[in-house]
Amino acid sequence: MDAMTETAPPRTEAAARLAGPLTPLWPFLLLLAIGLAMPLTGNEYWGLIVTRMAIYWVLVAGLNLIVGYAGQLAIGYVALLTIGAYTTSVLAAGNVLPPLPAFAALGVAGLAGAVFGVVVGLPALRLRTFYFAMTTLGFATIVTQITLAWQDVTGGGIGIAGPMLPEPLDTTWGFLYFCLGFAALCTWLTANIARSRFGRALVAVRDAEVAAEASGIHKPKLLVLVFILAGALAAMAGGLFATLQTYITPDAFTFDLSLLFFIAVLIGGRGSILGPLLGTVILTLLPEIAAPLAAWSTFLYAALLLVIVLAMPGGIAALIDPRNRRKLPEHRVITPQPTALDALLGRREVPASLTLRGIVLSFGGVRAIDGVDLEVTPGQVHGLIGPNGSGKTTTLNVISGYYRPEAGSMAIGPAPLPAGEPQGRAGLRIARTFQTPRLIGEASVLENVMIGGTTDGRAGFAEALLALPRQRQEEREFEARARLALEAVGLAGLAEVRADRLQHSELRFMEIARTLMLRPAFLLLDEPAAGLSTEEIRRLGALIRSISRHGTGVLLVEHHADLIFDICDQVTVLNLGKVLAAGTPAEIRVHKEVVSAYLGA
Ligand code: ADP
Ligand code: MG
Repeated sequence: MDAMTETAPPRTEAAARLAGPLTPLWPFLLLLAIGLAMPLTGNEYWGLIVTRMAIYWVLVAGLNLIVGYAGQLAIGYVALLTIGAYTTSVLAAGNVLPPLPAFAALGVAGLAGAVFGVVVGLPALRLRTFYFAMTTLGFATIVTQITLAWQDVTGGGIGIAGPMLPEPLDTTWGFLYFCLGFAALCTWLTANIARSRFGRALVAVRDAEVAAEASGIHKPKLLVLVFILAGALAAMAGGLFATLQTYITPDAFTFDLSLLFFIAVLIGGRGSILGPLLGTVILTLLPEIAAPLAAWSTFLYAALLLVIVLAMPGGIAALIDPRNRRKLPEHRVITPQPTALDALLGRREVPASLTLRGIVLSFGGVRAIDGVDLEVTPGQVHGLIGPNGSGKTTTLNVISGYYRPEAGSMAIGPAPLPAGEPQGRAGLRIARTFQTPRLIGEASVLENVMIGGTTDGRAGFAEALLALPRQRQEEREFEARARLALEAVGLAGLAEVRADRLQHSELRFMEIARTLMLRPAFLLLDEPAAGLSTEEIRRLGALIRSISRHGTGVLLVEHHADLIFDICDQVTVLNLGKVLAAGTPAEIRVHKEVVSAYLGA
C-alpha cells in the first residue's frame, strides 16, 4: 500500500473530478487561441483553412464517439456531410419550399442528420467491423448518386449555391469566429459524453462487450443515441461546409474526404478527444504544406496511417497520455481493506436466495450441464467446484443470462429469474467476474470500475451532453463509490493507471471492484484465485468472506480446494455436468466419490 501511494498521492476530490478526456485543458485553449488570433495575420487564405479545420472537427468530434469510443468502423461519414450541405443549401435557396434563413436551414439539417445518422448506423447493431464499414461506404455512394440525379432540387452535376450567413458572419473572419465557437461547443459536448457513464459504456462495448452486458449496458440503445448526436453534428458541419465553399457540387464530397475524417480519428487514437482534434488539424494542414503533392493525397493518408499504426498503435493520444509514462513500482502488494465495504455496501438485508432447479444445457451433443440444482443464500459463500469441463462456467453463464437452458428453472425467492437477458442482470443486482478478466485496457482502473455502476445512472443522455447538475452530482457519486471499491480490494493507489499496465492478479481484484459498484445481492466469481500467489489467495478469501458478511450471496467457482474449504458455507461439486455432491465443506472433504474423483487421496 505504502509503495503504491508514493507514486500516486491521494488526490483531492476536485483534482480527481477534473480527470477526464478534457484534461489538461490548455492544449484546447491554445488551439482555440491560435484560431482566434488568425485575423492578426491578415492572411485570409489561412483564415479559410482554419475555418475548414474547425468545420471538419465538428464532424470528426461526433464521429470520434462512434469510431474512437465505440470502435465502429464508420468510414463513409462524408454521406452525412453531403446530406447536411445539401439540406442547408436547398432550404436556404428555396428550391422546394419558401427560402429559410440560413440558421433555420442549419437546424433542419441537424435534424435530418440525426435521422440519417441512425439510418447509417443501424447496420452496426448486427454487422461487425468490415461489413459495417462497407455499408457506410455504400450509403455514401447512394447519397452522392441521389444528389447527382435529383437535378430539380440539388442542381445535379451543376451544383447549388451554399447558404449565406447573416452579418457579421458573412465575412472571412466573422465566419471563422462562428465556426471556431461552434467547434469549441462541439468539443465540450462530446467531451461531456465521453466522460459520462455513456462514454464509459461506449468503450466497454468496444473492448469488453460481455462485461458491458453484465454491467447492464444496452448496446443498441447506447449506439442509437450516439448515432443521433454524431449524425446531427456531421450534417451541421455539412451546412457550414456549403457556406465555406459558397457553391457545392457532388464531386466536392469525395471518398478522400471520408477517409480524412476516419483517419483523423485513427491517428488521433482511440478514446481521446485531443488526439483526434490534433489528427484533424494535421490532416487539414497536410495538403497545404505539401501542395505540390495534392494529387497524392490519398496515397499520403494511406502512408501516414501505415506509419502511425506501425510506429505508434495508440495514436497521438497514447503519445501524449501521461498515464503511460509514470513508472509503476515493481513489487506491488494488493492489500484489500474490507473495512471500506462498510461504507460501500452498508448492512443490507438481501431477502431471498437464488435457486436453480434441474438446469440442463447441451452444446451440440455434449451435455455441459445436466440437471443442476443449486441454492445461493444471501450472506453466504457457496463454492462450486469440479474438474475442468464439468460445467462450472456454463452454470455461471446460465445464471447471468448468456445461455438459455433447455430445461429447468431459476428464481430469486419466489420471483422467476428469466433465462437469457444478460443486460437485465445488473438491474437485479447480480454481478459477476470472468474466468479471463474483461477489461478496457486504455481506460484507467478507476473508469473500468465505474463501468460496473452504469445501470444505476439516472441522468439521461441529454443531461450528460450538457453536464447538467444532476449528471455532475451523479458522476461524483460514481467516482466516490469506485474509489471506495478500489480501496476495498486494495487497488486505491492504482486508480489513475491504465488498466492494461496492471498485473494479472491486480486485474482479478479490479474485476471484483467493478462488481462491487453494483452493491451486488449476488456475486458470481469465476476462478478468481487463478494466477494468484498464496498470500494473495489468502487475502482474496478474506475479502470474499467479508463481502458475503455484508449480505451478498456469493457463488464461488474455484480450483483451489484450500480456499473453498476455508471460506465456503456450502459446497456443490460438479462432475460431467451433474451434481456429484453437495453439503458443508466438512462433509465434502470426506465425501468418498469427491475424494476419489476430484480431490485425490
Ligand atoms: P468448467 O468451467 O467447469 O471448466 P465449462 O462450463 O466451461 O467447464 O464447460 C463444460 C463443457 O461444456 C465442456 O465440455 C466444454 O467443452 C463445453 N462448452 C462450454 N462452453 C461451450 C460452448 N460455447 N460451445 C461448445 N461447448 C462448450
Ligand atoms: Mg470454467
